[in-house]
Amino acid sequence: MKAMVLSKPRRPLVWTDLPDREPGPGEVRVKVLACGVCRTDLHVFDGDLPDPKSPIIPGHEVVGRIEAIGVGVSGLTMGERVGVPWLGHTCGVCPYCQVQRENLCDAPLFTGYTRDGGFATAVIADARFAFPLGETGSDVSMAPLLCAGLIGWRSLKIAGEGKKLGLYGFGAAGHIVAQVAKWQGREVYAFTRPGDREKQAFAWGLGVTWAGGSDEAPPEPLDAAIIYATVGDLVPVALKVVRKGGRVVCAGIHMSDIPSFPYQILWEERALFSVANLTRQDGIDFLSEVPKMGIQVKTTTYPLQSANEALADLRAGRFDGAAVLVP
Ligand SMILES: [Zn+2]
Ligand SMILES: [Zn+2]
Repeated sequence: MKAMVLSKPRRPLVWTDLPDREPGPGEVRVKVLACGVCRTDLHVFDGDLPDPKSPIIPGHEVVGRIEAIGVGVSGLTMGERVGVPWLGHTCGVCPYCQVQRENLCDAPLFTGYTRDGGFATAVIADARFAFPLGETGSDVSMAPLLCAGLIGWRSLKIAGEGKKLGLYGFGAAGHIVAQVAKWQGREVYAFTRPGDREKQAFAWGLGVTWAGGSDEAPPEPLDAAIIYATVGDLVPVALKVVRKGGRVVCAGIHMSDIPSFPYQILWEERALFSVANLTRQDGIDFLSEVPKMGIQVKTTTYPLQSANEALADLRAGRFDGAAVLVP
């Protein structure tokens, strides 16, 4: 197999020949057809996250087909199209796993961070975390759903049932979640960097109710806001635009420090949440609804060998939507 390998933080990924691995018990080997590039890959690249596997093959929005099956695997077949998400393994016995909160597992493995991921021609996955994808939708358009879509889905659940929903950051996750939220019958208010008319036009084009800069107030108070940008300054900003009892959800794995803010903007039962990872049930729930949603995922594709360029373009915000690597 071949892979783009990160040997040290902030060093370019290197195109590397590796021996093919056979799947162990409970594992499958997936031939990679497409792998999305997520902001978390930038955090892995930058060394922002503690205790990574090193060297590591990044990538946790993997779409591929099963090409080898280990002993003890049931329910998956050779050639089946599957998706491998960020949460790549859970222990099954810790207090969180036992109460259906495996997203908070005490001994998890994360694809492309603490186990090798999909910036490669093949990936070994825990079979329990390889979601059957069916055959609807192209490999490239499905890839961003495996993280941007899934974490988006979980953040929407945590945002509650409110109708007026703000989204801070309108990249890969924001543009997918906007469409899911619209499909659910909600109104979407898209906030971009101040003055980013291009992103705002992109949001208007997806049928949002309102788009503007994060320095602007929406036309009316919102029921909830989800923050996808990694900017802690947005927390008090979002608290100010949600109504009494409203929710603010931080959906990123990493965020700059949150500045101090007056208690007044949290009071009246406004609530602040974070979202961590996903559960398999989130994956099953979301992926079973996807074919009905008609989501248009905006993608920019790169050859696998151009992973460094894709990461640099993501960092610089040089494209709308999501970057996807194709081997
Ligand atoms: Zn556990
Ligand atoms: Zn991700």
